Amino acid sequence: MLRLKKISQFYFVFVFMLAIAACHQNPKSEESDAVITGADTMIVKTDSNKPVYTAAMVDNKKDPNCGMPVTAGIADTVHYKGKVYGFCSDECRDAFLKNPDALVKNAELK
Ligand SMILES: [Zn+2]
Repeated sequence: MLRLKKISQFYFVFVFMLAIAACHQNPKSEESDAVITGADTMIVKTDSNKPVYTAAMVDNKKDPNCGMPVTAGIADTVHYKGKVYGFCSDECRDAFLKNPDALVKNAELK
């Protein structure tokens, strides 16, 4: 039974890594500093001169480009039509800026 439990734990980590890899084509080292403390909270440790975004600071629940929950981490934000949208990566932000009207419906506003 102990062995089975270990395998399931490994599988969970593997799926979690896959989810991150699917969203980030270019993983950045700063992601390893993120600490998930609960379903809706997250502590992000970055250099003090970098802006830190939290899910509470944005109006969307999901990254409009890739669908990842903003609670998983926000790399940058965009102000669009009076709302603040958070994005998991610069790539997702750039994709949104190229075609905001098509992607904004995926954002799931709070
Ligand atoms: Zn994304």
